[in-house]
Amino acid sequence: MTDSDRGILTIVSGFAGSGKGTVMNKLISEHDNYALSVSATSRAPRPGEEEGKSYFFKTREQFEDMIADGMLLEYAEYVGNYYGTPKDFVFAMMDAGKDVILEIEMQGAMQVKEKYPDTLLIFLTPPSADEIYRRLKGRGTETDEVIAKRMKRACEESEYIKDYDFLVINDNINDCTDRVHNIIQSAHHTVSHESGFADMIKEELLGFNTIK
Ligand code: 5GP
Repeated sequence: MTDSDRGILTIVSGFAGSGKGTVMNKLISEHDNYALSVSATSRAPRPGEEEGKSYFFKTREQFEDMIADGMLLEYAEYVGNYYGTPKDFVFAMMDAGKDVILEIEMQGAMQVKEKYPDTLLIFLTPPSADEIYRRLKGRGTETDEVIAKRMKRACEESEYIKDYDFLVINDNINDCTDRVHNIIQSAHHTVSHESGFADMIKEELLGFNTIK
């Protein structure tokens, strides 16, 4: 496999209530080139969440063992809980040519970008702060205290949007999913992703170079 056949590693972050989960599910169901990484977390499952599908649910001690054993590509604490990306799945899927998506928050995103600068960073946001609050409240799964913490965190996060490569406003789920898909597919044609091809054609052209 050449570098060009390798999948793209994409991080999608976004404010709480940005609709990341819905967009990711739509992307996976509409296209078969994506693999969505399942994170480990020490947070308690929400109603309807499934082990191994939504998250790998761990105790804090189990999570700390995963850190110590070097099993995580990145990890961060978010509103009092650990979240992290198991490493093996990500690399196996990229090697198999899948475009791997990590739906993670900003600190983790920056750790991955630092280690793998070719990572594509997309930030998803609802159209306004009112809408963020409305969506969090409407979900009905969090207490007012947790919602307040998540709103505060969103405010802190807004500082770091500029470190991302793309900003996508989720005002319509279909349009937003299409935009994310198009961005990731364009990344297959960056010069750095196609560097193997660029080297190959340079070699081929040298073979035609008969002028001294
Ligand atoms: P939630 O509790 O709403 O499922 O997720 C809270 C935040 O943690 C979200 O911003 C989500 O993107 C982020 N998150 C989920 N998995 C990971 C992970 O593996 N690593 C990091 N750094 N953040 C994660």
